[in-house]
Amino acid sequence: MILVLVEVSLTGEAVENSLEAITFARDLAAAGGGIPIDAVVVGVPGDDVVKALAEHGVRRVHALTGPAYDAYSGAAWAAGLMAVREKTGSVVVMASGTPRGMEVLAHVGARTALPMAANVVSFSSLSPFTVTRQVVGGQAREEMQLSQRPALFTIAGHAVQAAPADAPGTGELVEETPDVADADLVARVVSSEEPEPDLSGSLKSARVVVGAGRGAGSADGFGEILELADLLDASVGVSRVVTSLGWRPHHEQVGQTGSRISPDLYIPCGISGAIQHWAGCSSAKNILAINTDPDAPMVTKATHAVIGDLHEVLPAINEEIRRR
Ligand code: FAD
Repeated sequence: MILVLVEVSLTGEAVENSLEAITFARDLAAAGGGIPIDAVVVGVPGDDVVKALAEHGVRRVHALTGPAYDAYSGAAWAAGLMAVREKTGSVVVMASGTPRGMEVLAHVGARTALPMAANVVSFSSLSPFTVTRQVVGGQAREEMQLSQRPALFTIAGHAVQAAPADAPGTGELVEETPDVADADLVARVVSSEEPEPDLSGSLKSARVVVGAGRGAGSADGFGEILELADLLDASVGVSRVVTSLGWRPHHEQVGQTGSRISPDLYIPCGISGAIQHWAGCSSAKNILAINTDPDAPMVTKATHAVIGDLHEVLPAINEEIRRR
């Protein structure tokens, strides 16, 4: 069996990254001849979560309940996950490559000495487990072999696109109340702030992102950029220069100290492509750079480029899109 830790958003939905992990698990399950997939959720999930998990192919949803899970503790979640793993005999334990997914599986790995691969994007063999994973902030990939089972994997964001299963699971809900030692509660969340709506979450999961850097010229130079984003139903992502100068809010920053994005299309306008920015956008499947400098790193790494002044190029693109 494959066990997937599923996170639930503040608005009570299974998060997209978790559904991606389940979609990834389905490929692994199919390669193994139809291994069942179970999910572990902390707290009793709403009907919509259970339904979404069943649609994605989950057989059973194990809900961890009890006072130990009232506030987030990576060690407590790990203890609960390990208890369900032992009960189900799962050969793979998976989570999404979110901060919580990474933290919980690291706790499991540290306690059990089981092999773990973080940020996995694909697999090529089940015996022994051979996976490819992202490293160096997504700039490089490496192949790993895990010579022992069970194995622990976190799945890199957007490694696959979440999709419902052809054969849905039953999504049977099972309540689990494993004991959690006091020692597992020594580090736990005591308060949290809800993000304002439409902050970086939509940027991180956007399929199209229009980017802007110093080349925009000023806070007033974003007209054509925002218009293009609007026409393409895209999110806006910017360089650190832009947020440092106060031209755009920080939640739009892409890069090492901003959001990591993996859209199908990234259109960086007037962004040089410094290594710290590249760390956040290198997973984009296609990049259309618009820049006056043909030697800018973003241009040389892009799939396509337009060399020119963004204030001349973008109005022409926008006009053409409107015309169609
Ligand atoms: P520039 O490097 O100045 O590039 C501007 C580009 O616009 C140039 O390529 C130029 O040819 C082009 N241009 C100018 N005018 C036009 C025009 N009219 N039309 C078209 N093109 C034009 N940066 C990030 O982005 N994200 C991060 O998370 C981040 N984290 C960092 C962390 C650390 C610890 C450090 C030290 C730096 C970090 N940086 C980050 C900053 C990074 O090093 C760069 O300084 C920054 O990315 C550059 O922003 P930029 O490309 O907008 O500006």
